[in-house]
Amino acid sequence: MIRKGWMLVISIAMLLSACGNLEVAQPNASPSQAPQTSSQAPVSVLEIVEEAIGNKQPPKTSAPTSDKQPEPSPTPAPSKENSDAASVDRNTGTLEVHFIDVGQGDSQLVIYYPSDLAKKKTMLIDAGDNDDEKSVVNYLKKQKIDTVDILIGTHPHSDHIGGLDAVINAFDIGKVYMPAVAHNTKTFEDVLDAVANKGMKITTAKSGVELDLHEHLTATMLAPVNDYEDLNNMSAVVHLAFGDTSFLFTGDAEEESERDMLNNKLLKHADVLAAGHHGSNTSSSQKFLDVVKPEYVVIQSGKDNSYGHPHREPLQRFEKRGATVYRNDLSGHIIAKSDGSTIEFRTTTATNSKNTPEAAQNTEPAQQDKGITSLAVNASIDKPEPSQNETVTVTVTLIDQNNNPVPDAQIKLVAKYKSKDTEYTATTDAKGLASIPFRIGRAAIGYEVKVNITATKDNITGKTSTSFTPK
Ligand SMILES: [Zn+2]
Repeated sequence: MIRKGWMLVISIAMLLSACGNLEVAQPNASPSQAPQTSSQAPVSVLEIVEEAIGNKQPPKTSAPTSDKQPEPSPTPAPSKENSDAASVDRNTGTLEVHFIDVGQGDSQLVIYYPSDLAKKKTMLIDAGDNDDEKSVVNYLKKQKIDTVDILIGTHPHSDHIGGLDAVINAFDIGKVYMPAVAHNTKTFEDVLDAVANKGMKITTAKSGVELDLHEHLTATMLAPVNDYEDLNNMSAVVHLAFGDTSFLFTGDAEEESERDMLNNKLLKHADVLAAGHHGSNTSSSQKFLDVVKPEYVVIQSGKDNSYGHPHREPLQRFEKRGATVYRNDLSGHIIAKSDGSTIEFRTTTATNSKNTPEAAQNTEPAQQDKGITSLAVNASIDKPEPSQNETVTVTVTLIDQNNNPVPDAQIKLVAKYKSKDTEYTATTDAKGLASIPFRIGRAAIGYEVKVNITATKDNITGKTSTSFTPK
């Protein structure tokens, strides 16, 4: 009996030590009792088993697929390229990416909450302009952040690094990254001073730098690949992967930097793209998008900014891809949440309307127009009885309660085929018009395909529907 008890203890000890650095309690004074292990041990074994099972998880199903035929990519980037390496890490913890509304400027806050309730890990990429520093610091405080583990100034323009000095002064900072380029401005010097006053050093941001945020996250700098005369192209570009989900933060990198990432085979797929240079046409080139293949695009630009950001051409390229576009100028703060397999978005206006605790983070007064109180949507289809594989075009017109056309509204179109739903997105133009062409593929003949259309502007929604029947 005694012997048996000891054997059991020893075999559990061996099992646990084979599993890795786990503590096993020594057998106590009465070995005839069931052997006791430390309370954490069984949980840890379970975790290991779950991680092993995690390899067999089905692929993610979050994003709707589109019937659209994207242009053939010269170098197709497999979207699941790192699924093997990352599979062990799936579904452990939660990743949040906050695209903080700083008007015309950038600020992206990454928060990782480990599942073991260990201390959260944070990365802040840019902090808006000098005027935004208080709101950025307050935003971080509302997230109960005391340490910024990784702080990145993508490039020395003030709409990116303006608030960095305040962040450095307000929080404990792990590591600071900036590209190896100087800028003769007070804003830039303020950042250098703040870093020096804390006795810290700046680590050079450049292609190939691995960011050590948490073992469940892979964060890599893809750019700058070279030195560039244009400061925008010196922007640090960061790819962040968590399980099967991924993000690409591009600062103000323009086509030249995009091309160098592409030519050096550094560019990878990302589910969420933070559009380069506030949605300027100098960025988000077609070749770049063909490799990144984003399902979601977030544009950080200010309302009525003098640059006309975001520009129409990149918006059209995103639309053509079928990507869902989120904009700070339309939606306020934008928060993406990933569990390692799916990504959900919310915006502060949406959160406010539900009156959830997170609403407290919306520190700024609501910026939306009070103009629009209702939306009337009208939709027509050019071919109500198309043939298989034909392209049909749905034209949507949008007016408000005063019969004024509504520009820049998000249009979502869902075609309800017999076997599946297919989703498209678009944005209305200055005349409140959006035309959405799509190929119907081999839709079932004689089956009426309902097309539901939802228009959203300033958190006001309007709906309509139309249909077609393939013959
Ligand atoms: Zn900028």
